Amino acid sequence: MKRVGVLALQGDVGEHVMMLESLDSVVVKVRTIEQLESIDALVLPGGESTTIAHLLVTAGLKDALGEKLRDGFPVFGTCAGLILLSAEILDGRADQWCYGALSVTLRRNGYGRQIASFESPIEVTGVGSVSGVFIRAPRIVAWDNDVEVLATLDPGDGRGEHPVFVRQKNVWGASFHPELAGDPRLHRLFVDSL
Ligand code: GLN
Repeated sequence: MKRVGVLALQGDVGEHVMMLESLDSVVVKVRTIEQLESIDALVLPGGESTTIAHLLVTAGLKDALGEKLRDGFPVFGTCAGLILLSAEILDGRADQWCYGALSVTLRRNGYGRQIASFESPIEVTGVGSVSGVFIRAPRIVAWDNDVEVLATLDPGDGRGEHPVFVRQKNVWGASFHPELAGDPRLHRLFVDSL
């Protein structure tokens, strides 16, 4: 059975833990290097990306996770977690860093004020329709060819259709919150890929 970690510094950790526990995996809340070293894969939850980034530094996890990502460690980032994995952040805080594990440029809070939070059906390649819960979500505005786009959405705000669920080798990212919709299929996709 695979040991799947959930980065447990800030954000909606409990919802991811519940999702993963409903699947065939041992779930570890990760706050220390020892916990990070004990797992086969890691989920980076939604929350506040600048806060999680800060806590990664103070917990001494930033570089250790960066090294693992360079070695191809499997991770799944949702919302703020996706921001942390991205290569470039637009409208981020001036000192905001990201891992560059996923070759995407995204705009923080890129779905605008009018629709800061919304729910929309999302058609995911190989899975079908899932419910996408967007909460002040990042918008992927550019991506490299080696990023596989598994779902897109045009929310009808005049800014067009953009990827909302992507994968680049072992690195997965969703701009929405699959852990909040009570549907474990995207977590299953990740766990089955391990
Ligand atoms: N807007 C948040 C950020 O920039 C992300 C929101 C979320 O994870 N729901 O960190």
